[in-house]
Amino acid sequence: MVASLFSLSERVALVTGANTGIGQAIAVALAEAGADVIAVGRTEPRETEAAVLGLGRRFLAIHADLANTDCIPGTVATALAQFGRIDILVNNAGIIRRTDAVDFTEADWDAVVDVNLKSAFFLTQAVGRHMIQAGSGKVINIASLLSFQGGIRVASYTASKSGLAGLTRLLANEWAGKGVNVNAIAPGYFATNNTSALQADENRSREILGRIPAGRWGQPSDLAGAAVFLAAPASDYVHGAIIPVDGGWLAR
Ligand code: NAP
Repeated sequence: MVASLFSLSERVALVTGANTGIGQAIAVALAEAGADVIAVGRTEPRETEAAVLGLGRRFLAIHADLANTDCIPGTVATALAQFGRIDILVNNAGIIRRTDAVDFTEADWDAVVDVNLKSAFFLTQAVGRHMIQAGSGKVINIASLLSFQGGIRVASYTASKSGLAGLTRLLANEWAGKGVNVNAIAPGYFATNNTSALQADENRSREILGRIPAGRWGQPSDLAGAAVFLAAPASDYVHGAIIPVDGGWLAR
């Protein structure tokens, strides 16, 4: 049955930064497909909790500031103690800092790389150990167009997202033979807090829109299909892929 290829029933998904934006949309999409959800982040995910519980799934919020890796062992221990398993990990939490490269500070470098790349790797390592032991698992990294392109005024963001693309491939090489799929989604320009500065800048916003073949910014719900696909049995032979969901931006 093709439908069963997209079913997440009996699965447990851990999503970072699930209180808002892309993480929230992905958490709710996974719940719609049948998964229970563990939301890991620094802000109470009340809306997400209501949506997931409303779908009849279990929900657990774990408070963690991923600016630091100290929270990772406790987060994974709590998740496993409460739900007994983690089948799907979505590394979504991320930040951006915008400054010309000549003025870019070490603080803005570290802040972004620590959340977007370092914590994503060490959380994946901690969860991955359990997935490898279980002989199955799905890791979905939220990459970016700047996993493929240079961008402008976002040095640490480009470094982190290009690094995340590399780690997606490295982990796929190491874990594909152990039953764990590691893949990524590269969203294009999405209307969230992350892009509020771009949306507010009339010129940049017009330039961006003019280059998107679909003729509109992405909405977080546009990522539901790719997320469910990469979390579900449908993608069991997909390893190390970075799937753009960008309204055609990279095709230009
Ligand atoms: P967002 O609305 O700003 O959401 C970012 C999420 O990350 C929030 O839940 C945020 O929590 C969480 N987060 C940030 N720092 C954290 C920390 N230290 N510890 C724990 N959680 C933390 O932006 P978004 O657009 O949905 O971004 C989600 C992901 O998509 C990011 O990785 C971003 O780089 C990526 N992305 C976005 C776009 C786009 O166009 N929007 C495009 C490509 C990729 P708080 O609410 O507490 O800050």
